[in-house]
Amino acid sequence: MLESIWPLFLLKRAFNVGCLPARERKSVSPFTPQRSDTAYTIDFALYLIASLALTAVLVLHGPAHRAWELMAFSLAALLSWTAVEYVLHRFVLHGLRPFRTWHAEHHRSPMALICTPTWFSALLIAVFVFLPVLWLGDIWRAEAVTLGIMIGYFWMGSLTMRCTIGV
Ligand SMILES: [Zn+2]
Repeated sequence: MLESIWPLFLLKRAFNVGCLPARERKSVSPFTPQRSDTAYTIDFALYLIASLALTAVLVLHGPAHRAWELMAFSLAALLSWTAVEYVLHRFVLHGLRPFRTWHAEHHRSPMALICTPTWFSALLIAVFVFLPVLWLGDIWRAEAVTLGIMIGYFWMGSLTMRCTIGV
């Protein structure tokens, strides 16, 4: 049913999500946040839609005289994503429970669709990116930085899919 929805179908095709039948993936612990193909695809779709919506808000309603400044903040956030991802991977996914346990399952079963639940990743972005920048700067800078981080997160997810599934 969901696969017949055009954007989800395109996303699924683009990243070849679910190209391996479930029986060919190794089974993982029932306590690991493993997802269905549909849930995994919806995560991609939500971050793509959120990024496009935030871009539209910035372009259509943002202060025109600050366009270059806001683009610079978005670009800086996007470029910083690699460092942010490294710190999260090194110190959270390989350091803190329960993330360490879940991430170990991901390394053991790279084909299994194990990843952070959408609500949790969105909460992390809101608490550790949007709110601090809002507090230190203003709503436009907060939106610009959040956009850069969300694009980085989306990009990382798509690269992970391509590397693990091999498309
Ligand atoms: Zn790792």
